[in-house]
Amino acid sequence: MIRPAQLAGNEVPWCRYGYYLPQRPSFTLDPVFHAGAYYVQEAGSMFVERIFRQLFEPDTPLRILDLCAAPGGKTTLLSTLAGASGLVVANEVIRQRAGTLVDNVRKWGIGNTLVTNNDPSHFASLRHYFDLVLVDAPCSGEGMFRKTPGTRTEWSEANVKLCAARGRRILGDVWEALRPGGILVYSTCTFNVQENEETVEWLASEYDCEPVDVTADPAWGIVQGEAAGMATFRFFPHRVQSEGFFAAVLRKGDGRVRVQVPKPRKAIFAPLARREGEEAARWVGQPQQMLFQRVGENIHAYYAPQFQAVREISESLSVLCSGVLCGQLFGGKLRPEHSLALFHDVSRRQVPVVELSPDEAVAYLRKADISPVRLQEGINLVTFDGLPLGWIKRIGARSNNMYPKELRIVNL
Ligand code: SAM
Repeated sequence: MIRPAQLAGNEVPWCRYGYYLPQRPSFTLDPVFHAGAYYVQEAGSMFVERIFRQLFEPDTPLRILDLCAAPGGKTTLLSTLAGASGLVVANEVIRQRAGTLVDNVRKWGIGNTLVTNNDPSHFASLRHYFDLVLVDAPCSGEGMFRKTPGTRTEWSEANVKLCAARGRRILGDVWEALRPGGILVYSTCTFNVQENEETVEWLASEYDCEPVDVTADPAWGIVQGEAAGMATFRFFPHRVQSEGFFAAVLRKGDGRVRVQVPKPRKAIFAPLARREGEEAARWVGQPQQMLFQRVGENIHAYYAPQFQAVREISESLSVLCSGVLCGQLFGGKLRPEHSLALFHDVSRRQVPVVELSPDEAVAYLRKADISPVRLQEGINLVTFDGLPLGWIKRIGARSNNMYPKELRIVNL
C-alpha cells in the first residue's frame, strides 16, 4: 500500500503531485488505488504539468483536448490542473482502450472530464475550439525498451516510418480544432528524430506555428532543444530519473478566431424538475457550482462554467462518459452510481459514512459480503483511510455490496 508519508523526499521535481516509488507495490490490493487517490505513470509524462504551469494562469477556464488519451495518465494530471473552471476532453480512438480510460477518469473523480471515442479527424468539426491540445502520439516506443524489453522485438525501421507518418496525420487532423493562439503539446515515448524533431519540423513547415517560452531547470537533466525554433524536451534514462520521453511545445499563430460548432445531431440533455434538482444537489458538497441534467434515465452533474461546451461536444461526438454520473431517480430519490462515490466532492452528509478496515476494504472491492452490523438501514458510503470506495446498502439483517461487478478484484 502506498502512503504519502513514505514518499517524502522522493518528489518528482517538475510535478507538484508526482513522487518516485521506492518499488513497485501491488496496486491491485491497495484500496487507496481503487479510491483514485493516485495513478502510476512515468515521471517524464508528468512534465505536462511544468508546461501547463508556465503557460497558463491558475483557474483560467480552459478547454483542453487530450487526443490520444488511453489509458489516461496524462488525462488525470490535466483534469487536476484544469480544475472546476476547465474542461478536459479525453479521446481514445480504440474502443476497448477507451473503456479503460473511462474507468480511470471515473476513479480520478474530478468531474470536469468527457471521454470520447472518435477518430482524430472528427475533431475538425470543432473549429478553433480548444485552448490546449495534447497529442501523445502512438509511437515506436524506444523509450520503453529498458523497462519492457519485450517491446524491442516489435521495433523495425518500417514501423518507425509508419509511426512518423501516423503522427503527422494525427497532427494535421486535429490542427483545425486548436484555436489561434492556443498551445499544442506533441509527445512520444521514443528517441528517433523522424517521429520527434522531424515531425515538429514538418508541422512548422505546413502550419502557422510560433515558439513559446517553456523551460526546464538544467539541474533536472532534461535535454532542452529546438526543432524549427519550437521548444523540445528529451528525457534520456541515463540522465534523468524517467524512462525515455520526448515533448515539443508550440503556439498556433494568432490568426482570426472563428469558432465553429457543428449543428447538433441529437438533443442529449434535459433539465430536471425543481424537486429532482434539489434531490440530486443534496449528494454534492458544493452544488451551487454545478448544473444537474438528465441524460436518458441518468442524472449527471457538470461544473457550470463549461456546460455549454459539454453540450456542444456531446451533440457532435461519440461521448462515453461526461461530468459526474450521479445515478437515477426512483420515486423522487436518487439511487447513487459508483461514479458519484468517487467524485472528489461527494457529500458526506447525505448518507452514513462507514470506515472499513484493510481486510474489509479488500473484501468490499472483491464484491464479497460485508457484515451489516456497523451499517445503518439504507445506503451507506464506505471509506478506507477516509477515502470513499463506493456504496453499500443495508436491508434489515443483510447488506447489498453495490461495488460494480466489472471492477471487482478477481485475481487474489
Ligand atoms: N496519453 C496516454 C497516457 O498518458 O496514458 C498514452 C497514449 S499512447 C502513447 C497513444 C494512444 O494513441 C494509444 O492509446 C493508442 O490506442 C492511440 N492511437 C493509436 N492509433 C491512433 C490513431 N491513429 N489516432 C489517434 N490515436 C491513436
